[in-house]
Amino acid sequence: MALKVERFACPGKGNGLRATHSVQAGEVLYSAEPLACCVSNKCAKDVCHSCFSRHESLLRCSQCKVARYCNITCQKKAWSDHKRECQSLRSVHPRVPTDSVRLAARIVFRLLAPSQLSPELYSLEELDSHLNDMAEEKREGLSKLSSMLQLYLQHNNPDLTQDTPTLHPLSLLAKVACNCFTISDGELQEIGVGLYPSMSLLNHDCRPNCVMLFQGTTLHLRSVRDIHPTEELTISYIGVLSPTRERRAQLLDQYHFICQCQLCSTTCLDPLMLGGEEEAWTPLKEAIPRLEMLQTNGNWEELLQVCNSLLAPGGGAVPGGNVYRLRVTDLALDACVNLAQWDSALHYGAETLEPYRQYYPAPHPAHAIQLMRVAKLQHFLGHLKDAEQTLRLAYDIMRITHGNEHALTSELIRKLEECRAEMGRD
Ligand SMILES: [Zn+2]
Ligand SMILES: [Zn+2]
Ligand SMILES: [Zn+2]
Repeated sequence: MALKVERFACPGKGNGLRATHSVQAGEVLYSAEPLACCVSNKCAKDVCHSCFSRHESLLRCSQCKVARYCNITCQKKAWSDHKRECQSLRSVHPRVPTDSVRLAARIVFRLLAPSQLSPELYSLEELDSHLNDMAEEKREGLSKLSSMLQLYLQHNNPDLTQDTPTLHPLSLLAKVACNCFTISDGELQEIGVGLYPSMSLLNHDCRPNCVMLFQGTTLHLRSVRDIHPTEELTISYIGVLSPTRERRAQLLDQYHFICQCQLCSTTCLDPLMLGGEEEAWTPLKEAIPRLEMLQTNGNWEELLQVCNSLLAPGGGAVPGGNVYRLRVTDLALDACVNLAQWDSALHYGAETLEPYRQYYPAPHPAHAIQLMRVAKLQHFLGHLKDAEQTLRLAYDIMRITHGNEHALTSELIRKLEECRAEMGRD
């Protein structure tokens, strides 16, 4: 099949990827398997290291005791990629290296079997490492990881990374840092990291015309609006629910460029994102790191308590569209769901929908997932008409961002049918 995308020299940005023909919203423009990937350490116990699906109980590799699989079939399929890794994991046991070190090692192992490599539009040699424009502190951090990588690889092939410049540990880790993608499940929860070299040609835009969706480890690049032939294809490297200054700072720090996209140049969303008095929203902004920690630790009671007091009316001079208020509201929703406080969950969820609609004018997976979350609460609490309406809005987005074949879209359609059947009974 002819490729729908091609590489080109993009003025001011180096390389880029563009469409070879006119594209309609919702088209799959490229699908790829990773050059290498691994399950994130934080979900190592819940996700199969072969097919990347989530399971309650998984079979453990008896040798390294780290890798886990759905069953023998998944384990057998993964063995050629895991064999050397297994040896390395055993050699550093009980330590488990960071995700980036494990991914870098998997790239090295993969390159030892060049016959298994698939053709790419962009090669590992060409990927940017940005080692020269990196802050000293960051370089030091990478040097530490680089020592870990060398130690980790020692038992396998101590010389390999020394002889090949692309595989020099420091440069490889720097390339991994700015080029790897987070592999997420249909609900956008992180499950792993992977390197898809051709996709590193995609430049960033805070309002991109494409999104990436994963099925297992397969990456699909999908268009979210109609695109002219030869128009540049873009994705967003970061979450975009932040004001321009924060988006630019994050992009500069992680990806070493100053975003000149239309949204950043015009700063047109900032008045909405920073709505309300600065004194009123500063406490919300400052509380977020602590709230996220409570979320990570599953400390739901405390999380909800703090969110409730921050969002209480009276202190509520901050409009719903303010991004810090929106983040706190999302955290409150998560806490309520985990504490099975459904009415409060729906209250907080419903509050987020208008800001999401404003911030995601083009179809975006995060918007669809949010709608679906709220619709499930509405359905559960018997607000059938609201649920049906919310599900329809979610479907309009998801058929573009996920496609009709995606498991989550099928789930949504089932939910919609269920809802309609129940309404018919009343
Ligand atoms: Zn599996
Ligand atoms: Zn193992
Ligand atoms: Zn931007």
